[in-house]
Amino acid sequence: MPDPNGFLRYDRRLPARRPVPVRILDWREVYPPAGEELIREQATRCMDCGIPFCHDGCPLGNRIPDWNDLVRTGNWDAAVESLHATNNFPEFTGRLCPAPCEAACVLGLGGQQPVTIKQVEVEIADAAAAGGGLDPRPAPAPTGRSVAVVGSGPAGLAAAQQLARAGHRVTVYERDDATGGLLRYGIPDFKLEKRHVDRRLAQLAAEGVEFRTGVHVGVDVTAERLRAEHDAVLLACGALQGRDTPETPGRALRGVHQAMSHLVAANRVVAASGAGRPALATLPDGTPIDAAGKHVVIIGGGDTAADCLGVAHRQGAAGVHQLDLYPEPPHARDAERDPWPTWPWVLRSYPAHEEGGERVFAVAVQEFVDDGTGQVKGVRIAEVTVEKRDGRRFLTVLPGTERELPADLVLLAIGFEGTEEQPLLAQFGVTRNARGAVDARPDWQAADGVFVAGDMHRGASLIVWAIAEGRAAAAAIHAYLGGVGELPAPVDPARQPLAAR
Ligand SMILES: Cc1cc2nc3c(=O)[nH]c(=O)nc-3n(C[C@H](O)[C@H](O)[C@H](O)COP(=O)(O)OP(=O)(O)OC[C@H]3O[C@@H](n4cnc5c(N)ncnc54)[C@H](O)[C@@H]3O)c2cc1C
Ligand code: SF4
Repeated sequence: MPDPNGFLRYDRRLPARRPVPVRILDWREVYPPAGEELIREQATRCMDCGIPFCHDGCPLGNRIPDWNDLVRTGNWDAAVESLHATNNFPEFTGRLCPAPCEAACVLGLGGQQPVTIKQVEVEIADAAAAGGGLDPRPAPAPTGRSVAVVGSGPAGLAAAQQLARAGHRVTVYERDDATGGLLRYGIPDFKLEKRHVDRRLAQLAAEGVEFRTGVHVGVDVTAERLRAEHDAVLLACGALQGRDTPETPGRALRGVHQAMSHLVAANRVVAASGAGRPALATLPDGTPIDAAGKHVVIIGGGDTAADCLGVAHRQGAAGVHQLDLYPEPPHARDAERDPWPTWPWVLRSYPAHEEGGERVFAVAVQEFVDDGTGQVKGVRIAEVTVEKRDGRRFLTVLPGTERELPADLVLLAIGFEGTEEQPLLAQFGVTRNARGAVDARPDWQAADGVFVAGDMHRGASLIVWAIAEGRAAAAAIHAYLGGVGELPAPVDPARQPLAAR
């Protein structure tokens, strides 16, 4: 029986982040462990609501009140079991999820403080890692059926684990030199140290999953061959087609790059050098793409932009501006626009924002300014208003507001346009829709025997959705292969986040 008064006795508290002057000298995670005392106190705030709205916020169907109570009572082994019953990788979501469950928590009603659900989650996940809770669980008997998973991000990995544990022979194909998808070279170590990814990969390998890296499906191996060698194929290739701005004057100047070029280069250097201060980050052709000593302008307001900001601080940027087209969001939920328990439009500040840099809202880039040698030296911006009509965006520039910001390095973090156009699509007989995503039938098939999940199906989204879709697609593949019993399917392809409009 949970403590019904816990939230009256304890305020919401999170562990203190590592001090800024210390943490920007390395690439280690920003949050230290919370410690058992704090986390049991925070779990005590959960009321075990009759209708736990936190469940509606999370596509995984996490049993949040159950594991909160198990942590409150110090029953860690059972908490580990309960958490893993619905989530293959809680150490990723616990660290990285924006936590729609917390936005939906009943304690958040009326602007109050929700339970620290994801902090409890990450502490359980880390307790599992420390205490043998991640021991491999190989299938008792093989089914003799085989599945190819293309793409090793959270969607592909979740599906691979589910299918391997059901007895199918699973091979994960990844074009990169290492597995993990965006968890590996997209998301910086200060948000997710790669030892967490490596530990899970070791668990999957011990459960029988085979990893083939450096294999670009559709180029190095054809779809035809994959289909001949496997009974089913899951495409989990992500949504990595970065949006660009080719019409902006000066886009072709040196020093103007896609944000992912910067993040991948930086993460590769960190991976090569451990947690110490890494060498200069460069593009694959050797061109430096490092913020050291530079004025950096980051264009965009989401996760990718915030990650570029944290990387720029650690590389030793001289100064950083982060530009957003939209006005500064409210600091608290606007209950009319986004009523509880939906995900609210509010100002989201990441740890990177307290490390430095200046955010500039309601501005649009007019030109990337040339220094006369083909290298960018500035960004000319103007204040704008944005109006949305018929799903389209219209900008009005406010006259007389133009100004120039210094810029030696400009990073475009303005979103993604779906999955990349690549040979694999035509070879498997699938196409990108108007959003650049690949549609799935209700049984997750995009073509006969070819399933799709994660960002490739949903468009650029969240890790929690990738895991949920990977689990659901695995359930569909298991049924397609005539597997015994059913695997859990937390979402169907049409499922959308909780919304009021
Ligand atoms: C910079 C950045 C930061 C983010 N931060 C967060 C965060 O903090 N929290 C959060 O919840 N979400 C975050 N996201 C979103 C999250 O990372 C994605 O939603 C998630 O990784 C999608 O998982 P996925 O498995 O569908 O695809 P991905 O992780 O994109 O993996 C797809 C994989 O497929 C491989 N691939 C593609 N084509 C082929 C082919 N033909 N052959 C072989 N392999 C192929 C790719 O190399 C890649 O490794 C972030 C995204 C970015 C870009
Ligand atoms: S909504 Fe909040 S208080 Fe209620 S069960 Fe979920 S986490 Fe606990």
